[in-house]
Amino acid sequence: MLLSACLRRCARLLYWIPVTIIIMVVMWSYYAYVVHFCWILLTCATQRVVFLCLFHVCFGMFLWSFWKTLSTPPSSPSVEFQLSSSDSMLYEQEMGGLEKSQILLEISQKLPVHTRTATGAIRFCHHCQLIKPDRCHHCSVCQMCVLKMDHHCPWLNNCIGFSNYKFFMLFLLYSLLYCLLIVSTVTPTFIELWLGKLFDSCVKLHVLFLTLVSAMFAVTLCFLLFFHIWLLTSNKTTLEWLSVPFFVDGPASEAFDVGVRANFLQVFGKKKSLWPFPVFSSEGDGHSFPLRWQMSSHSPSLMNGNGHCAVEGSVVSPEGVSATIAVDD
Ligand SMILES: [Zn+2]
Ligand SMILES: [Zn+2]
Repeated sequence: MLLSACLRRCARLLYWIPVTIIIMVVMWSYYAYVVHFCWILLTCATQRVVFLCLFHVCFGMFLWSFWKTLSTPPSSPSVEFQLSSSDSMLYEQEMGGLEKSQILLEISQKLPVHTRTATGAIRFCHHCQLIKPDRCHHCSVCQMCVLKMDHHCPWLNNCIGFSNYKFFMLFLLYSLLYCLLIVSTVTPTFIELWLGKLFDSCVKLHVLFLTLVSAMFAVTLCFLLFFHIWLLTSNKTTLEWLSVPFFVDGPASEAFDVGVRANFLQVFGKKKSLWPFPVFSSEGDGHSFPLRWQMSSHSPSLMNGNGHCAVEGSVVSPEGVSATIAVDD
């Protein structure tokens, strides 16, 4: 018992290793850019001031969004989705799967729940003893159900979901800008160093590595940011991209897609002045989301006989992704 508790504590400490690596790389990049590049190598004072100002704006926004993504706890479903003690007892007493499903179906009638399991049953979390709201998933690392869960990020040791998805998008954006700023300002000096015009070996090493590491991160972040912009504008989470959500009538890959502008506003909110800052401004409470067929009630071509969205192409089998992300569905 004591041993397993110690092992769990050690495992929790191990989760912080990737975060520590990121922090160390960022601290080193700050030192290499400010001290070695701006202070030692740059000779023009105006250039030095302009570069340092731009760098600190980028660095500040990057740190702010990084901290907010890292420190904002994922939000869990409200108490209405939790089974009451009497319902829980009734549920546990029933032996048959069909009877259990019937109990959950009756409880879910008063909840805004539309998504189902692949077999058409109500989505229930046995760990948290609750009916999962639409787009909510259980994270086995955080050991809780997370509203509009996107993925568990090992580099931030946090779940990315409804509470911090905007911060995560800004973190990707400002990280990319930070790397691009370093690459674009250091490259002329990098070329001079490469051609052997500057000889201080310590400075040379720092600046060479700074350019290479920043360029490498910039390429990776570029792919990641464009992928998440595509997810944001089509109103999908990474989990929904991997495994299409199921409804009463079957899977619907674009069920939450209500148009590019509305999709963007769901995450960034209506206040334009808050868009660039990692301050929470997302719409809704994370428990229910507008559905495509509700928004397009005047467009019968999108709906089937039950008033639900017709199943569209690119359906992915949910069985194919079970081991990809730390999620129980
Ligand atoms: Zn759970
Ligand atoms: Zn998690």
